[in-house]
Amino acid sequence: MTQPSLHDMTSNNSQSDYDPNSMSVIQAKQLIRNYLTPVESVETRPLRESLGRILAEDILSPHNVPNHNNSAMDGYAFNAESLSPSGETNLNIVGTAFAGRPYEGNTLAIGDCVRIMTGAVIPIGADTVIAQERVKVSDDSISFSDTIKAGFNVRYAGEDLKQGQVVLGKGHFIRAADLGLVASLGIGLVKVYRKLKVAFFSTGDELSAIGETLQLGQVYDSNRYTIYGMLARMGVEIIDLGAIPDDPLALEEALTQASHQADVIITSGGVSVGEADYMKQLLKQYGEVVFWKIAMKPGRPLAYGKVGQSHYFGLPGNPVAVMVTFYQFVREAMLVLMGQNAPKPLPMLRAICTEKIRKLPGRTEFQRGILFIDDDGEWKVKTTGNQGSGILSSMSAANCFIVLPEETGNLETGSQVQVQMMDGIV
Ligand code: AMP
Ligand code: MG
Repeated sequence: MTQPSLHDMTSNNSQSDYDPNSMSVIQAKQLIRNYLTPVESVETRPLRESLGRILAEDILSPHNVPNHNNSAMDGYAFNAESLSPSGETNLNIVGTAFAGRPYEGNTLAIGDCVRIMTGAVIPIGADTVIAQERVKVSDDSISFSDTIKAGFNVRYAGEDLKQGQVVLGKGHFIRAADLGLVASLGIGLVKVYRKLKVAFFSTGDELSAIGETLQLGQVYDSNRYTIYGMLARMGVEIIDLGAIPDDPLALEEALTQASHQADVIITSGGVSVGEADYMKQLLKQYGEVVFWKIAMKPGRPLAYGKVGQSHYFGLPGNPVAVMVTFYQFVREAMLVLMGQNAPKPLPMLRAICTEKIRKLPGRTEFQRGILFIDDDGEWKVKTTGNQGSGILSSMSAANCFIVLPEETGNLETGSQVQVQMMDGIV
């Protein structure tokens, strides 16, 4: 399918079946994907600082890991030809090998063994290790009757990584295990993409700042805090432009400032039908932005486009809708922009729902859920209760989204549902 250009979409010249008033979640995601080009600038960082960043080069192994054949156990190393074909094997202890202090004697003779510690280099002439718990020691010899095969308890050179092998590919998101992996190669500096710069502001005359006394009809600006938290978790550079009243000049100033400073602009509020139309007019004037009614709940109005060179996401004002749309649309888009190779949605699994769910077919719902283990050790899910899109406490109580596809209607207790994990991520 050829996708309409942003220009076509904004001027309604599209030849495709694109309909801004009824977009599925998947359609909207795919459309956004078409306009994303990752950052290109690369910086070299000390290994530890690369945590949570995206790798901008392939990392190859400069040597085998492990570097030498070594012992997987504390025990005794010997040549398998020393094994008695039947009955008890007896070996003379001729020395010791410690991790980092190899046995320095001659090639091990048949009938001899070396006391060896975990990680110590296998002595020349030896090919097998028996664990110390399996042997009887008397003076300078050991005996055992275990059946044991050549190569037992030996870790081979290169069995983790081979010299020249691509260990981590360009576009990889660097996690704790990766820091250790890169360190195991002796590499201390890595090339990562520069951080994405993300500017955001809230819109609304009713917004009040923490520290002020609420007047009738006012609410504290909570979206700026959730958006801050979600962005901080993604490791981007954050530019907080504050809460802007529904005033065309102030909004214009914030929007232009954001487009000069940031790769991505996120706003909350002001994009729904019935709003004072300032945001829409401004976005039409300064960029190519489409306004969608997504077939989803919560999060129906959503705007996406370009303002200057910046990618623009206009999220709904409702506090829960802000988080849902961020995790369904903005997160993955931002990962692409950050340079991550083929980012995935939040992980999805199936669970039995322990209560009835009311739902109208025709839109995807993201209900807030609590995944828990019941008394039989089975994973089950229940909702957090009131699912209103202004009920931010439902997000706080939840550890997952219960994702109900467009075609789904009411569900009985005991139905299997899809659950999208957010604990520890959101
Ligand atoms: P809007 O999309 O601007 O019509 O806002 C929808 C609802 O979300 C209204 O009840 C707003 O008061 C509320 N809202 C908008 N922005 C914020 C914000 N930054 N913090 C908390 N609530 C907000
Ligand atoms: Mg508003």
